[in-house]
Amino acid sequence: MIYQRVALIGLGLIASSMAHAMRRDGLAAHITGTSRSSETRAIAREVGFCDDIVETAGEAVRDADLVVLAVPVGAMDAVAREIAPKLKPGATVTDVGSVKRAVIEAVAPHMPDGVHFVPGHPLAGTEHSGPRSGFAELFENRWTILTPGEDTDQAATDTLRRLWTGMGAFVDDMDADHHDLVLAVTSHCPHLIAYTMVGVADDLRRVTDSEVIKYSAAGFRDFTRIAASDPTMWRDVFLSNKEATLEILGRFTEELFALQRAIRTGDGDHLHDYFTRTRAIRRGIIEAGQDTDAPNFGRGTTR
Ligand code: NAP
Repeated sequence: MIYQRVALIGLGLIASSMAHAMRRDGLAAHITGTSRSSETRAIAREVGFCDDIVETAGEAVRDADLVVLAVPVGAMDAVAREIAPKLKPGATVTDVGSVKRAVIEAVAPHMPDGVHFVPGHPLAGTEHSGPRSGFAELFENRWTILTPGEDTDQAATDTLRRLWTGMGAFVDDMDADHHDLVLAVTSHCPHLIAYTMVGVADDLRRVTDSEVIKYSAAGFRDFTRIAASDPTMWRDVFLSNKEATLEILGRFTEELFALQRAIRTGDGDHLHDYFTRTRAIRRGIIEAGQDTDAPNFGRGTTR
């Protein structure tokens, strides 16, 4: 048992997965959940991953030792404002937002003295969302990054780290700005590129009819999985991690132009060298245990 009472604000993929994992591993004595819509609250009640579902965030955080903000990044400010006067002295507040600097700026100013805010981000997710999409194994062997500030209470950070470790995650501490830059490279920009590629193919589909769907196994299918991610969440990610994503997109565009020129001028050496370098990165990810080495991501054969 790590926390007596946990409050989950937001009951989507991440919060419901946390609840399933905490229950499986006996990490919290009591979990209260809330979500803004009565529909999500009703589904959460039906699935039954919380001990208690209440109507408002203010109500949910009463007596909570740990409060988890699991709403889109753009909603963090309003939620922090609402719960601030109801927080128990000594409580820890954390979040799971995909961007860290913007969340710190939105939440920290509202936190009362004696409440410990420890920002966090589990690097785990799927393209599904909502209270039915969660599962206890989501965080296993995936990294969770905590971005405590210099003044953040060490004991509060350590206890939160134990919770994430208990749910099967590896945990690292990182500076918030560095987190945002790293995630712009590893997650945010790849999502934008996938959204773009699927958008281009959708335009093309009007010309080629159903060929894009029919032959989608050839790489495009993996783009469509990423591009099916929640539009609200991803809108907020780009609006709140503007600087880092624009920086990485600038570099991406330069490299894309260089590859475009290599194709036009027939510079096979450039293309071959580039693809050799990128192949080594894939090997590094597999060696680090962050993906399967099975062909086609272990899906079996495709035509
Ligand atoms: P989700 O499944 O879409 O659930 C979102 C939850 O937030 C729902 O309970 C929803 O309430 C609530 N919500 C949405 N807009 C709101 C608003 N304006 N005010 C108050 N509540 C609002 O989302 P998720 O995937 O769990 O993501 C939650 C957080 O985790 C986000 O900050 C995201 O950046 C982060 N994250 C996501 C992933 C991922 O892959 N999905 C991975 C790591 C971190 P209703 O359903 O009642 O409307």
